Amino acid sequence: MIVVLRPNLAQADIDLVIEEVAKLGYEPRPIIGKVQTVIAAIGDERTHNSLDSLTTLPQVENVLRVQKRYKLASKEARPTPTIVEAHGVRIGAGEKFCMMAGPCSVESEEQLMTTAKAVKERGAVFLRGGAFKPRTSPYEFQGLGKPGLELLAKARKEFDLGIVTEVLAEKDVELVAEYADILQIGARNAQNYALITASAKTGRPILLKRGLSMRMEEWLLAAEYVLAAGNPNVILCERGIRTFETYTRNTLDLGAVAIVKNESHLPIVVDPSQGCGRADMVVELCKAAAALNADGLLVEVHPNPAEAWSDGQQQVDLIRYSQLVEALKPFIAAVGRPPTGAVATVSPTRQAITAQALG
Ligand code: PEP
Ligand code: MN
Repeated sequence: MIVVLRPNLAQADIDLVIEEVAKLGYEPRPIIGKVQTVIAAIGDERTHNSLDSLTTLPQVENVLRVQKRYKLASKEARPTPTIVEAHGVRIGAGEKFCMMAGPCSVESEEQLMTTAKAVKERGAVFLRGGAFKPRTSPYEFQGLGKPGLELLAKARKEFDLGIVTEVLAEKDVELVAEYADILQIGARNAQNYALITASAKTGRPILLKRGLSMRMEEWLLAAEYVLAAGNPNVILCERGIRTFETYTRNTLDLGAVAIVKNESHLPIVVDPSQGCGRADMVVELCKAAAALNADGLLVEVHPNPAEAWSDGQQQVDLIRYSQLVEALKPFIAAVGRPPTGAVATVSPTRQAITAQALG
């Protein structure tokens, strides 16, 4: 860190600050200027206490940070991209564009299976769906809980899709981790460090949404909690931030994709659904995310959005989801990525096989 002193200080004042810097565990190296002196404080800022407190001294004008506060999440710590593996799928730079799609909430077997089948047929590799829902109002649908997780497990088995689902509370971490291939930490919990750490300790990959008013540094520091807990598998998810704009539910900050690519080795996916809160904008925002070389998308899809139990206004129906997958292709190709998971017909479900066998 650099401690900038006020101009024209007496030597005794300079010495006092030098002493304080040393007391805080840094090696002080004063650089004496004609008018102003600065003290280079040598030490690892990421593990030592900050020197910001020195600004309370009348001799100190400012304290400047040199290193990034996030250590493990930074590119300096790891120049090569992290590839997160879940359900046999590799997510990260240079890998296939990863489609994670499914309903906002798990509502019923029919709703989930219909969606799972449709997204699988269109190349998705993960099924998203909340069994525990963070709702602004306590009177709104809170999710099916464990039965919802069981339905996700059923869809996983039937369609060979990995499961991305949210863990809302520390008490449910073990339960949700049993069913999830990727544990989602939602925007409202993006700075719940106890939940993040407990989730990280399960060893499951973590999809860390950006908090509603989180700065990039805060978001990367939240990811740092996962890494510091010994879990290297973090996927960041840009899902829009709260701004003064009311046309959209949130403002999808696509610049965040470029920033994360500059600053970190971690994969980043984009959630346009929470990002704009309007089904009619989702396709365009997906194209933009793919063009920015995001590592994938988390998209809300519902067979009948008008009847959805949560976030109906932003979920695309199956027809629009098909259009979306088609529309994405040139953008994925333009950034030189392999196309998303094979768009193939689903292998017959077990029921179909049974039906066939029974003639
Ligand atoms: C969701 O994915 O449905 C959700 C609630 O996301 P967020 O935490 O980003 O609001
Ligand atoms: Mn939602």
